[in-house]
Amino acid sequence: MKILSLLISGIALTTMPFVLQARIQGTYRTLLANQTQTSNQHQKCPFCKIIQKADPAEIFYQNEELIVIQNNQELLPNEKQGLLIIPKKHIPNLAAITSNDKLLIAELFYIPTFLARQYGYDNFKIHVNNGSLAGEVVHHLYIHFTVF
Ligand SMILES: [Zn+2]
Repeated sequence: MKILSLLISGIALTTMPFVLQARIQGTYRTLLANQTQTSNQHQKCPFCKIIQKADPAEIFYQNEELIVIQNNQELLPNEKQGLLIIPKKHIPNLAAITSNDKLLIAELFYIPTFLARQYGYDNFKIHVNNGSLAGEVVHHLYIHFTVF
């Protein structure tokens, strides 16, 4: 719990100003593009298949770093309908992130707020299932985004 608190405060206090600064300097997309892994590394991952357009999905939004798709019962049968925010880089789960992923993680948690504003939702929930015991079904980091 202490590690998680440190990680969250680290992102909030040190990464966010850097993210904004990097965007102004035009280096943000270059930094994240350099972190993207090659497309052949995770051929069995259902999210990588969607990202590589080998499998179909209802794409709600995407940019260079992430994709937002409509959840369906085939992908995550135990979850409610909603959106899934998925980094294009294959990261198994939150426990596998490194300091090189800080900008990407900030983007993943920024996008729900961006989308909620765009579509006029003041009430929404985001959550991450980290590890099988916590309900992680697909071992590629994803954020559930549900609006109310
Ligand atoms: Zn993957």
